[in-house]
Amino acid sequence: MASIFTKIVAGEIPSYKIVEDERFFAFLDINPLAKGHTLVIPKKEIDYLFDLDDDTLAAMIIFAKRIAMAIEKTIVCKRIGVAVLGLEVPHAHIHLVPLNSEADINFANPRVKLTADEFSKLAKEISNNL
Ligand code: AMP
Repeated sequence: MASIFTKIVAGEIPSYKIVEDERFFAFLDINPLAKGHTLVIPKKEIDYLFDLDDDTLAAMIIFAKRIAMAIEKTIVCKRIGVAVLGLEVPHAHIHLVPLNSEADINFANPRVKLTADEFSKLAKEISNNL
C-alpha cells in the first residue's frame, strides 16, 4: 500500500507544499515541533533514508539545503536543525526544524498548533523565500 507521503506527492492527500522538483517534495510537518518544521522526501517510496542510492541521497541533501535557507529567511531562529527518525512513516524523510536551543528538536516536546490559514501562509512565505 502506498505510504501517506506517496499519497501527498500524488495529491491524493492535501499538504502544505513548499516546493517540489522531479525527484523531491518538501511540505510542512502537520504536527510541528516549531513554526516552519518541514519534511523533505524523495518522491520514490523507500522506507529507510540510508537505503537511497548515493546519487539520490546526495541530491536530497542539496535539495534540503535550499529549503533550510528559505526557512531561515522566514523564521527567526539560530539555525535549522536536521533530524531523521522515520519511526512513524515508512517513507524516507528529513526533518528541518528551526532551532533556538537544543531542546527545540526534542521530539517528545508538545507540538505547535497552527490553523489551516497559518500553515498555508507559512508554506507560501517559505516558498517565496526560495
Ligand atoms: P517520523 O516517521 O518518526 O520521522 O515522523 C513522521 C512525521 O511526519 C511526524 O513529525 C508527523 O507529524 C509527520 N506527518 C505525518 N503525517 C503527515 C501529514 N499528512 N502531513 C504532514 N506531516 C505529517
